[in-house]
Amino acid sequence: MKTVVIASNNAHKAQEIATALSFPGWEFKTLKELGIQSDPVEDADSFPGNARIKALSAHEASGGMAALADDSGLIVDALDGAPGVYSSRFAGDDATDQQNNQKLLDLLQDVPDQQRTARFACALCFIDEDGSQTTAWGTVEGKIGYEPQGDAGFGYDPLFWPDAFQGRLTTAQVSAQEKAAISHRGNALRQLREKLAYS
Ligand code: IMP
Repeated sequence: MKTVVIASNNAHKAQEIATALSFPGWEFKTLKELGIQSDPVEDADSFPGNARIKALSAHEASGGMAALADDSGLIVDALDGAPGVYSSRFAGDDATDQQNNQKLLDLLQDVPDQQRTARFACALCFIDEDGSQTTAWGTVEGKIGYEPQGDAGFGYDPLFWPDAFQGRLTTAQVSAQEKAAISHRGNALRQLREKLAYS
């Protein structure tokens, strides 16, 4: 059995990763499940850069196990790409999702419908036991709404109306499976699966 350490303690992400990359003989464990301490400073200025920092740190802290990290965030055109790599701490270091969403709504207060375009992006970095790296990238296009809608998901989901749902639902109004079918993380995981299957 090959154990892959997921460089995140987010149980929801771990489940999504394990489902998307269910290769025979592979099992996925979070850092916490393996009792490994790895909390690097994510100071790169890009999603792939931060994913690589997290994957390398988990690979090293685990004594050379295969490691997988993701880094993701929201890119808003009317804000020149913000919050970007600062998505989780947009309204401050310990900001809640609700505070981040409120800041986004405040900044977009006078921005008309057609200029509220945005996308989520997700970078993945997989480091195998031999140190070889495989990366993947996924996005999902959509628009930022005017008030939160829906209780599912996390982060900016209640404000994000993906084009794929034709303006009818936010990513907080669908099941985890329906979101994964169109999401940035789902798309990146499908790309990584292809790359690993043929490597
Ligand atoms: P991280 O990749 O877990 O560090 O996520 C960065 C931040 O981007 C999260 O805290 C959310 O604010 C935002 N984000 C990333 N992916 C999603 C998503 O699927 N839905 C909503 N917000 C997301």
